[in-house]
Amino acid sequence: MNAESTNLYIVDDDIQICDLLKAYTCDEFNVIAQQSAKAFLNCPINDSDIVLLDLKMPDMDGVEVIRELANINKKCSLLIMSGYDEGVLHSSVQLAKEYGLNIITSFSKPIKFSYLMNILMRIKVLNTSNNSDVIDTLPKVNSINNVTPDKAYVLRNAIHFKPTLAELIDAIKQQHLVLYYQPQLSLQQKKVIGVEALVRWHHPEYGVIFPDQFIALAEQSGVIEQLTAQVITLAIEQLKLWNQQNLVLKISINISAQNITSFTLPDQLTRLVNENKVDPSMLMLEITESALMTELTTSLNILTRLRLKGFKLSIDDFGTGYSSLSQLHRVPFTELKIDRTFVSGMLKSTESKAIVDTCILLGHNLKMEVIAEGVEDQETLNLLQNMGCDNAQGYVISKPLPIAQFEKWINDFHRNID
Ligand code: C2E
Ligand code: CA
Ligand code: CA
Repeated sequence: MNAESTNLYIVDDDIQICDLLKAYTCDEFNVIAQQSAKAFLNCPINDSDIVLLDLKMPDMDGVEVIRELANINKKCSLLIMSGYDEGVLHSSVQLAKEYGLNIITSFSKPIKFSYLMNILMRIKVLNTSNNSDVIDTLPKVNSINNVTPDKAYVLRNAIHFKPTLAELIDAIKQQHLVLYYQPQLSLQQKKVIGVEALVRWHHPEYGVIFPDQFIALAEQSGVIEQLTAQVITLAIEQLKLWNQQNLVLKISINISAQNITSFTLPDQLTRLVNENKVDPSMLMLEITESALMTELTTSLNILTRLRLKGFKLSIDDFGTGYSSLSQLHRVPFTELKIDRTFVSGMLKSTESKAIVDTCILLGHNLKMEVIAEGVEDQETLNLLQNMGCDNAQGYVISKPLPIAQFEKWINDFHRNID
């Protein structure tokens, strides 16, 4: 389903590292592992390719490789890794910048895989989205004298950007927060039944900023109330537009712990759905198990009122928190979302598969629909269908997309099915 593929070169003489990195990235990238720097330099490297380069190679050191890449004028996205200290990495990054290479960042070994994957996905999104909304957010300030914006510059800043509270508040006011939509597929009916709305910050200078860089700040500072209000408004406006197009899709949004300790949420939601003439059952509120644990009585009160008003409730990241089974029964959830750590481990670990199995059974016995998140390959998707899971979400179906791309995606999807 996900046809586009970006080449990822892994250049490391350590075969175990090559194998590990390959196993971790091969669902998303066309991986070419090279244990020799010279062999790598003979490859037909394109500008849209990503190169993960180890600084210490037996036949040529990393600095030589960097110089050679500059000589042959390669504009691929370059990430360097090394077992050396930070100082060596820093100097190599500086050197690559001076040579005009598209150096994105550096990693010291051992590499944190989830962090690496996050960065690789951002590069892929930026590289494969020619005229999309993403490119529209590239820096205008950096394109003086009609010089095209430098993607590496944008990515570097976006990855290392740590917003201040003032910047975050300003972004909410200026409406720089946008929703990306990730489809949810019914495994039995083979059709798209809804989306999860995931917030992104379209920064005027740094491009797309991901929620892991600002949700915690919003939660700690209390700004999450305004942020969630903005997300809800955007989601309900989108539901209204889809209504007008006769497109029947539920939207799931993420609700933080603080949102269910303040009594404003049910009234605010009800007012917005009424104003926009939207059916509240088309909105699903995702709450994590851990969010339930704070001020249990208040949150139970609020969640029950939300259900009475017709909204749907999903228990997110299920299996990672510590809610007791009796609480699960007390809160009127309509959906159970199995955490992606179990889903992505299902094929290799019998324990993960057993947990997924149990979650499906539990959800169904409690009259909930069960959705699996983080489905990254077709084999897992098939297995989930055979196990009786209702719905699925994950990269194998589609990554989260900006609205224009999502609407194109769903048109193509329906056309292929008919
Ligand atoms: P989450 O609720 O668990 O959302 C799913 C995350 O998994 C998303 O990351 C999504 O892009 C990613 N994902 C989707 N499919 C796959 C897959 O197949 N494999 C893997 N490995 N990952 C997949 P994203 O968009 O970066 O969001 C991260 C987290 O930020 C979310 O985790 C959620 O907790 C939080 N978040 C996002 N939007 C909002 C929001 O509007 N409000 C609040 N309070 N939190 C939000
Ligand atoms: Ca979620
Ligand atoms: Ca989740």
